[in-house]
Amino acid sequence: MSQVVTRFAPSPTGYLHIGGARTALFSWAYAKNQGGKMLLRIEDTDRERSTEAAVTALIDGLKWLGLDWEGEPISQFARASRHAEVAHELVKMGHAYYCYCSPAELDQMREDARAAGKPPRYNGYWRDRDPSDAPAGVSPVIRIKAPLSGEIVVHDHVQGDVVFKTENLDDFIILRSDGTPTYMHAVVVDDHDMGVTHIIRGDDHLTNAARQIVIYNAMGWTVPEMAHIPLIHGPDGAKLSKRHGALGVEAYRQMGYLPEALRNYLARLGWSHGDDEIFSTEQMVEWFSLEALNKGAARFDFVKLENINGHY
Ligand code: GLU
Repeated sequence: MSQVVTRFAPSPTGYLHIGGARTALFSWAYAKNQGGKMLLRIEDTDRERSTEAAVTALIDGLKWLGLDWEGEPISQFARASRHAEVAHELVKMGHAYYCYCSPAELDQMREDARAAGKPPRYNGYWRDRDPSDAPAGVSPVIRIKAPLSGEIVVHDHVQGDVVFKTENLDDFIILRSDGTPTYMHAVVVDDHDMGVTHIIRGDDHLTNAARQIVIYNAMGWTVPEMAHIPLIHGPDGAKLSKRHGALGVEAYRQMGYLPEALRNYLARLGWSHGDDEIFSTEQMVEWFSLEALNKGAARFDFVKLENINGHY
């Protein structure tokens, strides 16, 4: 078995929050447990929302938490030409195609689907059409050909085998008309090129995984192992949000929390080792396994965090 490579892939649109820090911690702990490495990829393709200050805040937060990664952080934006290259390769291979539909045509398509009682989706109009019929002066997007029948199964270390019917996947866009990649496509190309063997991330990405597997299969690339971890909820059971209190790692640092305490607490949010409440980082690394990740949503409880801080 080749060396385990994990990655943390935050979008630099704000501070490092509790959920992201936990994802990073699990990716880091698994890599260490396996004698592998974690990489850091900054998903900065959204130029409107990504800022340098957020990149710095993310890196500072990770360092304060005691996490490290191999090599320099990788900028996703800097890899745009590689993303475009793969999209065009998929067209050449016959797995993707140029689509020239205008926004008005797409609206009409969705309307017609709705009227026919079908989900409002792209109907594959340009899938088998000859690009020489294309209207003049229109820059096309590139869409991938999603399989028309069958299933895509995400073999997930936390969620088990999750089955998606391919008829529910449309021919989604991988390259926009301005030549920039969609998130779905960039993530696959980067994870492949970076040699990522294990993707550990929030379960809000589970449906994306099915689409990403379509791209892996089309390229003939090996699909990495996946572990989608349930999101964090507040003590009241609702999805963690600002009204539950501080969400940023930086806030805890300023309140005087020790990184060990926060690390220990984050580890327990979704992972457990018997009844152990407090453990060293070495113990966590030694004991960590994807199978021990909890299937249910974790609850963020400030009181427990305070108790743990007192023990360090
Ligand atoms: N950049 C994405 C996010 O911050 C994560 C992408 C991924 O892990 O695949 O939610």
